[in-house]
Amino acid sequence: MVKKVRHVMGISGGKDSAALAIYMKDNYPELDIEYYTADTGKELKETYQLINNLEVYLGKKILRLRAYDDSPENPFDHKLKSLSGFLPNPQHRWCTKSLKLDVFEEFVGNDPVVSYVGIRGDESRDGYISSKGTIQSIFPFRQNIWSQEINKFVLDNNKIGLTLQLADQLIPVEKLERFKELLSFKTFDELFTMEQKLLQLLNLSTSGYNALVHEMLKTSRYPLAKENHFPLINNEEVLLLDDIFDLLEKSGVGIPAYYKDIEFEVDGQKATYNRSRSGCYFCFFQQKIEWIWLYEQHPDMFAKAMEYERDDFMWNMEESLAQLIQPERVKAIKLDYIKRKTRIEKSKKSNKLRDILADDAEVDLACASCFI
Ligand code: SF4
Repeated sequence: MVKKVRHVMGISGGKDSAALAIYMKDNYPELDIEYYTADTGKELKETYQLINNLEVYLGKKILRLRAYDDSPENPFDHKLKSLSGFLPNPQHRWCTKSLKLDVFEEFVGNDPVVSYVGIRGDESRDGYISSKGTIQSIFPFRQNIWSQEINKFVLDNNKIGLTLQLADQLIPVEKLERFKELLSFKTFDELFTMEQKLLQLLNLSTSGYNALVHEMLKTSRYPLAKENHFPLINNEEVLLLDDIFDLLEKSGVGIPAYYKDIEFEVDGQKATYNRSRSGCYFCFFQQKIEWIWLYEQHPDMFAKAMEYERDDFMWNMEESLAQLIQPERVKAIKLDYIKRKTRIEKSKKSNKLRDILADDAEVDLACASCFI
């Protein structure tokens, strides 16, 4: 029996995945999307609140997936114990794998799955792409809704003949000649890259390119090969950071409370701080100023994060949390943050703190499964 394609979306508790859920409900109500969240048991309470708000807006349950759900402990502590207290770090992100990715793959099994991912039009990453051939990622906020793997499959130099034939049926007549000209150019590593070819095709006709990809997929084993109709083919919208905040505000779901600017003063200088991302309260990806935010705004959670540290296992390689909250260190971190923020503000057109923090947060290789 041919398996039905499942449409799924992971809700991390961050702004982008929440906005994507709103966007999909508003624009593609015909897609029966299964929403899920992979709960580590260590998220901020604001994250759980956002998920509850979203459920009300969607009128649908967001399935709570929990690793080791037969354990009396929460997922993070259960796994940590099995690793004798070895805390995760950017090089050893066992938390992402065991508590997020593995539970997702178990949830979808071997079913053909289209997974919607909230990477924005102003970001240049693909996020988590499952290595399972049965899972296909789609990025509705970007002009290029397809993963790199799919674009490679379609724009393979050996398939130029087939794409030219399909273009005759799919591309608007006024754009056909140039579209076929672009399609017929072979890509070479440096002279004319696949990315350049893709961008030119998309700029010429986004919906035309999308229709071409969908037809090409029908010759493959990717999940969308089984769908005769895929409404996102006609999606020409690109959503940026401000659009995300607008969607959250206008829907009534709201911006997660941890984004709220809170004022502080140090050495006579005033500034604001907040937390820039969702994820576990002790996440090792957070910036020093976010640790200080946690210490000052959620002292109970900071104290719990401290309890995990031992001589050999710390959240930051350079210093323990006990060292980080020494008054002189707190002052230095705040002053450094103000300096950095001023520099970034000067180099950017936007002076909105949320833009600065969000962009800055993407400088590091953050955990897409936790923060989108
Ligand atoms: S939020 Fe951070 S600590 Fe939590 S699972 Fe993701 S990477 Fe690990």
